[in-house]
Amino acid sequence: AKARGRNGYQFYSPSMSGEGLERLRLEALLRRAVEKQEIFLHYQPQVEIDTGRLVGVEALVRWQNPELGLVAPSRFIPVAEDMGFIKPLGQWVLAEACRQMVSWDKAGLAVPKIAVNLSVRQFERGSIAEQVSGVLREAGLGPGRLQLEVTESVIMHAGDALQLVNDLDAIGVGLAIDDFGTGYSSLAYLKQLPVQTLKIDRSFIKDISTDANDEAIAVAIIQLGKSLNLSVIAEGVENEEQAAFLLRHGCRHAQGYLYSRPVGPDDILTRWRREADE
Ligand code: C2E
Ligand code: CA
Ligand code: CA
Ligand code: CA
Repeated sequence: AKARGRNGYQFYSPSMSGEGLERLRLEALLRRAVEKQEIFLHYQPQVEIDTGRLVGVEALVRWQNPELGLVAPSRFIPVAEDMGFIKPLGQWVLAEACRQMVSWDKAGLAVPKIAVNLSVRQFERGSIAEQVSGVLREAGLGPGRLQLEVTESVIMHAGDALQLVNDLDAIGVGLAIDDFGTGYSSLAYLKQLPVQTLKIDRSFIKDISTDANDEAIAVAIIQLGKSLNLSVIAEGVENEEQAAFLLRHGCRHAQGYLYSRPVGPDDILTRWRREADE
């Protein structure tokens, strides 16, 4: 009775669990969240490890609902994907991220680039490049300052992924492979992609100085990046030990609680505009 089609329809049956009802409620509230201005973005700094310089920010979506409180993206993104809501949501995120960059520019902080997460559903039925260039044009942001983050599975599962990714490359936006190492992309395939950045997944960084396997994987990814001439950034860096390890092995960029949690746009401005002045 809980079987659910790709389009998100679900037939009610008396045996439906409380979980099913909870899900329906979540969908109903989510459907109206954008128009009710309950959706907003937080931004997490990406830094150059050895200088602490800001090299970019990643936009991370947030949902604050009066009934539900703050809902984690890991809870509502999958729901949005199932119910076909990820397209309008993803479009809003992209537009808001680009507007924010221009607004920081005007306030005197030039954030070098912004990374925005894309869901596999945003790759379905073509014209992602057209959407993205439309958003950039409207916001007045140069394509070189936008980097799209996709996971390996997005690339492996989207039908025309290679074509779509090449279209994005053609308009001048950057591409990063998110959570790298957790999927199963073939290296031969990776070589064909117009990718600039690999993001080492947090799960490999977590125990980097105590787990020999994690250490080996992280080092292998850094080496791979070097060989393919890609930039490598580590996510989930929480302590100095991890940062020192990464630097020692040639990974220059990182993101994580050691530097900053994801924060609102004004916090980015006050912290980094001040550091730029110093
Ligand atoms: P992700 O893209 O891998 O994003 C990184 C996640 O790690 C974020 O969680 C971030 O807050 C968290 N994080 C960053 N540094 C640290 C750290 O040092 N330690 C720990 N423990 N965690 C850290 P968040 O914001 O809850 O996002 C979770 C996931 O939701 C993201 O994982 C991404 O897959 C998805 N997501 C977030 N925003 C969007 C969006 O706008 N669109 C899409 N499609 N997915 C999004
Ligand atoms: Ca990401
Ligand atoms: Ca990630
Ligand atoms: Ca991750």
